[in-house]
Amino acid sequence: MKYPTYDDRLYRCTVRRSVRLALDDGIIKKQPCEVCGLLDVEAHHDDYSKPLEVRWLCRKHHLDLHKALRKAGLWPAYNDKRVFIGVNSPIEEN
Ligand SMILES: [Zn+2]
Ligand SMILES: [Zn+2]
Repeated sequence: MKYPTYDDRLYRCTVRRSVRLALDDGIIKKQPCEVCGLLDVEAHHDDYSKPLEVRWLCRKHHLDLHKALRKAGLWPAYNDKRVFIGVNSPIEEN
C-alpha cells in the first residue's frame, strides 16, 4: 500500500479548495454524473495539475473509476483511497 506524502495531500487539499471557490464564483458548474446522471456528484481529476478540469461523478461511479484506474495500474497514488477528493466529501482518514 502506497500512501501519499504529506505534500501530495496538501496539494490535493489546495486543488479541492480551488474547485470549491471556482464553483462559488460560477467559473465551473457541477454536472450530473457522467455515467448515470445522478445530481449528487463529486469532482474527479484526471490531472491534478489542472485543478479546474474536473469530471463529475456520483460517489458510486467515482469509486468505480478509481477501482478501474487502480486495476489498470494507472496513477499509483490511487492505491490509497485517501486520495479521493470530492467537493462535498473530506479526504478520508482511515
Ligand atoms: Zn453515477
Ligand atoms: Zn477521483
